[in-house]
Amino acid sequence: MSEVFKGNFTQQEPIPEEAIEAAVAVMRSGRLHRYNTAPGEPGETALLEQEFAGMLGARYCLAVASGGHAISTALRAVGVRPGDRVLSNAFTLAPVPGAIAAVGATPVYVGVTEALVIDLVDLEAKLRSAKVLLLSHMRGHICDMDRLMALCDAAGVLVVEDCAHTMGASWNGVPSGRHGAVGCYSTQTYKHVNSGEGGLLVTDDADIAARATMLSGSYMLFDRHLAGPGIEAYAQAKYDTPNISGRMDNLRAAILRPQLRRLEAQCAAWNARYVAVEDGLRGTPGLQVVERQAAEHYVGSSIQFLLPDWEAAGITEVLRRCSARGVELKWFGDAEPKGYTSRYDSWRYAESAPMPASDRVLRAILDMRLPLTFSVEDCALIARIIRAEVSAVFQAQA
Ligand SMILES: *Cc1c(COP(=O)(O)O)cnc(C)c1O
Repeated sequence: MSEVFKGNFTQQEPIPEEAIEAAVAVMRSGRLHRYNTAPGEPGETALLEQEFAGMLGARYCLAVASGGHAISTALRAVGVRPGDRVLSNAFTLAPVPGAIAAVGATPVYVGVTEALVIDLVDLEAKLRSAKVLLLSHMRGHICDMDRLMALCDAAGVLVVEDCAHTMGASWNGVPSGRHGAVGCYSTQTYKHVNSGEGGLLVTDDADIAARATMLSGSYMLFDRHLAGPGIEAYAQAKYDTPNISGRMDNLRAAILRPQLRRLEAQCAAWNARYVAVEDGLRGTPGLQVVERQAAEHYVGSSIQFLLPDWEAAGITEVLRRCSARGVELKWFGDAEPKGYTSRYDSWRYAESAPMPASDRVLRAILDMRLPLTFSVEDCALIARIIRAEVSAVFQAQA
């Protein structure tokens, strides 16, 4: 009898008791709005911003309603205007081009390599077509950030980082989100900390921070921010910046603060699971694991592998057989967008030029979440199942 996995790929851990208690205290107070604070009380949201900025060594931090809102706020705050072109990854998820569309701008997609990072050769060729790069560290894969920043700095292209999958990760010792002008994070349930919905952005630039704060819906209460710039930074911004409400509230901030304190331990737990799957998959005929670079300190909250140059029928057969044994894989090559997974050419509100080399990579990507409700033993079992089914289909094809 072949082994079957019984776990649930979308079941996250419960919220820690300490966070539940903090949330209950906020609810008992009735002061859920971030600016509804008692005299002398900083409020959970301002404290969260202060703590997250401290964690990343950032001067400023702003908490908002979602990761997508953090990105569109960042784009607007760095000066992206309707009709502008914004460079971004062809391999990412729908909220990334969506954030570009939200400010009336147009994405210009940059290709993906077999290491699942942005193709720096393609980027270099396209750098002159835009003033801003929205760099998505998709599925936690971090490109050579030193080279990327050197290219963008030389071309005068400002970098906004989408760190939805890299909270807790770093490149060459620099936290993800701290290379570009702005780093954006999500605290949505499927990311590295869980408040249902939520987002954070960090920057060292006082003007960007002031505009972002106004944009988030601060009214004229920006002096209540513990991790914001001084009021002098608002001299112009308070007149020039629309209020596009999308604040974080004290309830969600209360849930997040204890989770931030244990982020490092959570990241280590993800990586133990990631390595268990990777070790189990390595050497499977027809399957390519995604190699990581030494400078990359990643967070393995999901894992990807490639079935390069397989026919679609073979891949869908692998998906079917794994699913029958309880292992849910997502395929980025599917022509039809499904669930959370879609491809750059399915975002039809924006034009895209064909990218054959990237299409070949996208067609080969299989993707799997690794929630912390899975044990390391579960992960080894999952790898055995994938290995067996990929091998079987590969041999049948040969
Ligand atoms: C989840 C996600 C976002 C946006 O986060 P939300 O909080 O869901 O708006 C942005 N980029 C990527 C790659 C994501 O996976």
